[in-house]
Amino acid sequence: MNKKLPTPAFKITRCPTCGSAAIRWVMQRWDYQTEKGRRLTPEVPHWKCGDCGERLFDRISHQVLDPWRASIRKKKSRSRASPIKKSSKARSKR
Ligand SMILES: [Zn+2]
Repeated sequence: MNKKLPTPAFKITRCPTCGSAAIRWVMQRWDYQTEKGRRLTPEVPHWKCGDCGERLFDRISHQVLDPWRASIRKKKSRSRASPIKKSSKARSKR
């Protein structure tokens, strides 16, 4: 699964959140909180802190993330229907 990493638009050597130097430019998928719930992202190149888990996005990341988020917004949520099927009327009380 090691795709070639694109070159980051800028270099980060320390995590702005915790100050750790364990921050890495990675290509990963993760659960992303969108307006439509949690979705697994495509593989997005981004900075990830190995200590606090902070993710930072630069221009390159947004080139992947933004169209993906837009596509979620556009998609009519078919799976939004309630998980309970109303097909059986047999349950009605007497
Ligand atoms: Zn950190």
